[in-house]
Amino acid sequence: MNKLAKFLNAHISGLVTDKPEILAAYSRDMSVLEMMPRFLCIPKTAEDIQFILRFSAKLAKKGYKLPIGVRGAGLDTTGADLTDGLLISMEKFNTIEEIDTRESLVRVKAGITLGELNDALALFGLELPVVASRKQTIGGLISTALIDEAAKKYGSIYYFTDRIEVVLPNGEIFQTTSLTKRGIKLAQLKADDQNAKTNTTIYDLTEKNQAVIAKIRESVHNRSGYRMVTEVNRENKPFDVLPIFFGAQGTLGVITEVILKVQPIQYHTRQYVFEFTSINQALAFSEKAKELEPRTMNLYDGRIFKTLESLGRKAKLLESNTATAQSTAKFYIYLDFAENFFRIRKIDREIEKLRPLADKSYVDQEKYKADFNNFNFGLKLYLNSHDTAEKLAIVDKTSIPAEKLPDFLRNLQSLEQKFHQNLPVFGSLLTDLYSIRPEFDLTDILNRKNLIFFLQSYAKIVYEVGGSLAGGFAEGRTLSVITSSRTDLEIKEFYHQIRQTFDADNIMSPGVKQGATLTNFVRHLREAPLIGFIEY
Ligand SMILES: Cc1cc2nc3c(=O)[nH]c(=O)nc-3n(C[C@H](O)[C@H](O)[C@H](O)COP(=O)(O)OP(=O)(O)OC[C@H]3O[C@@H](n4cnc5c(N)ncnc54)[C@H](O)[C@@H]3O)c2cc1C
Repeated sequence: MNKLAKFLNAHISGLVTDKPEILAAYSRDMSVLEMMPRFLCIPKTAEDIQFILRFSAKLAKKGYKLPIGVRGAGLDTTGADLTDGLLISMEKFNTIEEIDTRESLVRVKAGITLGELNDALALFGLELPVVASRKQTIGGLISTALIDEAAKKYGSIYYFTDRIEVVLPNGEIFQTTSLTKRGIKLAQLKADDQNAKTNTTIYDLTEKNQAVIAKIRESVHNRSGYRMVTEVNRENKPFDVLPIFFGAQGTLGVITEVILKVQPIQYHTRQYVFEFTSINQALAFSEKAKELEPRTMNLYDGRIFKTLESLGRKAKLLESNTATAQSTAKFYIYLDFAENFFRIRKIDREIEKLRPLADKSYVDQEKYKADFNNFNFGLKLYLNSHDTAEKLAIVDKTSIPAEKLPDFLRNLQSLEQKFHQNLPVFGSLLTDLYSIRPEFDLTDILNRKNLIFFLQSYAKIVYEVGGSLAGGFAEGRTLSVITSSRTDLEIKEFYHQIRQTFDADNIMSPGVKQGATLTNFVRHLREAPLIGFIEY
């Protein structure tokens, strides 16, 4: 073991390793990039993280850089959880510290997964209603500012986060808190207190930059930069640094603990699937369906299910209802509700009125339960099926304004022809976030080049309709290659100042969000596909 790893191991209760076979397992996420860390650290306590960050800051002061990356479950699609320095994996930070059922609050370590948390909360009839993979960690959800499919209904992870504890890049612990104007004044008097110092510095920065913040607010659907800084210092609201960490992607510190608001489980659910022959027909339906406030409303290009059919995996739900005739559906809408018993009854009646707007409809009934599960699993099967090469998660969750979706789909058709690709769209009609999965063989140099042309061409059609590439989560190492050049210079400078305020030595995930270059993107493109069935 390297001397440095030995030294770090002697000072922390967790583990530091430089074994290549272990490091290799942490060199990939769900993005197209690959970076081998020099060291992996699995801390057990916040003190371990403090020691590591202080050590790295000391090295930086001596002119030696040991960049620090942070990893939750490693599901990031933008390469933000990769580093060629020391990677802190939050896998041991997976405990629930406290559940307050009366106040519906829960205190957890940031590495706990959504699945682990919701399984425990279910015992108390509570849940964190974020519709996402069970494997994602709470720290990861916050740090990517993930807009999940139920975000329109419930408000995403942002709405449910009350407070967080963070180890700052200088090794100090910071706990977020809401402050009134008087609270800010008191903090300004406590020059030696780290919490007070962070609060007042960010307060001053946001006060000085109100004009820039107003500009950031104008681009509602863009999740790049430290976009949530717009919520830190609002008129008539208490000041709180917390929002700045949403979408920070591990660049401002390591989140160790989180207090979440949770809510009672809604046990009564209902699912529906509707078929349409045109996008305009589907959109007209969705406008009406939105009034019923579903939990999720997803749009699927019918080609996804056609592909599955050609692979002999036709969705059972569609099979049972179109046993004789071939389906002509071009689009499917999946609707899902979680409400109380009486609301569900009402929704059933309202949906009955909407059914004539669709070509066909499939209503949740006991006998179709398994078929609905099979329908939902269809997307995962499709994403794991490779026609020519791996389906790459490179432009997931693009934000497209609702009224521009038909234009976007038309432009996408041209892109399909240009790149000889099938690009069926899937996404949420409630959050206006849509994904496509282009297929490129990363083992082939020409294909890797084509992937870059594709990314640039795709960005062009997105921005043409007023959309945003970083729509559903932050930009990381991949999307920042595009988003950075499209960010207003004043806004860029402001984001730079925020980062400098937290991390003057630039030790936390350099190259993530800011400083990403096409050269680095190409250098870190992985050369082999991801293996195994990926539970997206
Ligand atoms: C193909 C694919 C599709 C996806 N689509 C969806 C989807 O449709 N809906 C959905 O809800 N989710 C989706 N996700 C997941 C989502 O995009 C995020 O990647 C997820 O929130 C990351 O959680 P994680 O625990 O894996 O964090 P990681 O991927 O490990 O990390 C994500 C970011 O958070 C930072 N981070 C993690 N933990 C901490 C911490 N404790 N402190 C500071 N920074 C931290 C990392 O540095 C990194 O920048 C998808 C993922 C994949 C693989």
